[in-house]
Amino acid sequence: MIKSLFAAIIASSAFSYANISYAAEAPFAIAIHGGAGTIEKSAFTPEQEKQYRAKLTEAVETGYNVLAKGGESLDAVTAAINVLENSPYFNAGRGAVYTYDGAHELDASIMDGRDRQAGAVAGVKHVESPINLARLVMEESVHVMLSGQGAEEFAKEQGVPLIENNLFDTESRYKSLLKAKDKLDKAKATSKDYQAAHRALPVNYKMGTVGAVALDKKGNLAAGTSTGGMTAKRFGRIGDSPVIGAGTFAENESCAVSATGHGEYFIRYNVAADICARVKYQNKTIIQAGDEVVNGVLKPIGGTGGVIIVDNKGNISLPFNTSGMYRASKSNTQPTYVGIFKSE
Ligand code: ASP
Repeated sequence: MIKSLFAAIIASSAFSYANISYAAEAPFAIAIHGGAGTIEKSAFTPEQEKQYRAKLTEAVETGYNVLAKGGESLDAVTAAINVLENSPYFNAGRGAVYTYDGAHELDASIMDGRDRQAGAVAGVKHVESPINLARLVMEESVHVMLSGQGAEEFAKEQGVPLIENNLFDTESRYKSLLKAKDKLDKAKATSKDYQAAHRALPVNYKMGTVGAVALDKKGNLAAGTSTGGMTAKRFGRIGDSPVIGAGTFAENESCAVSATGHGEYFIRYNVAADICARVKYQNKTIIQAGDEVVNGVLKPIGGTGGVIIVDNKGNISLPFNTSGMYRASKSNTQPTYVGIFKSE
């Protein structure tokens, strides 16, 4: 009797060893975005389109390789975002849009799904990688969000070199600023109202952002977002990207989300956290929850944009309500996917 019990214990532990060896094949996944907006195929030369796709591929593969080697989702998210921040094609880091006054003010945030630790920076002007600084805020400070000069003092204390603001300059973003200012000034001349003038700006003058969400083999989710904000922003405007719950959210029990779009709406509707709450409390899939919020809640009120979502099983969803969103994904069960326009 005792012998057979012993045998049963051995058998069951062998079984759990078998499970553990399956756990080595645990799901892992990453998704990235490079902004949503009025993105039409006709606006690209074939060569430009190829370059955008190549950069998206490089970013998603960079993050995926971290995960495949058993690395942490936080590292995968940071590595993928660094690739996009360093590219002039996307509105983050190099390539950031201009403020009304002709400068660049950058926002970023990152969240760890394990324990809901988070870090964010807003309105920084001299930090090459805002996502890296957001991560330092999470890991090395007692705060969640630092802004402007104070954030840069903290960066200096952490040994982060400060750079000239004009290192973020690109010609194409400058042209967008001139177009935007022209429209703003014309609208202001008739309405004399800055708010109305700003509303009159087509959304594609204003948007862009980069982000990443990932699940690692240990089952930990992470999300991060980095942006130059909106073209011609004024008065120290801060968007949703550095706001935990609005532009970025991650918790292991539900999902990880990074958003891009008209930040004011994403803040007011607490978009990233709302998606995860629907997953957690209503047992919705990320496809249902993402669609409900992006198309059901935001679209009718004019909140243009999209999100990338990964859940704790490695499922991926990339909903948006604009004509395009730069996006890519890869998981241990799905090959690299890259998309720009709606119909792909
Ligand atoms: N959400 C960003 C902001 O409002 C911009 C964007 O994603 O396009 O600052």
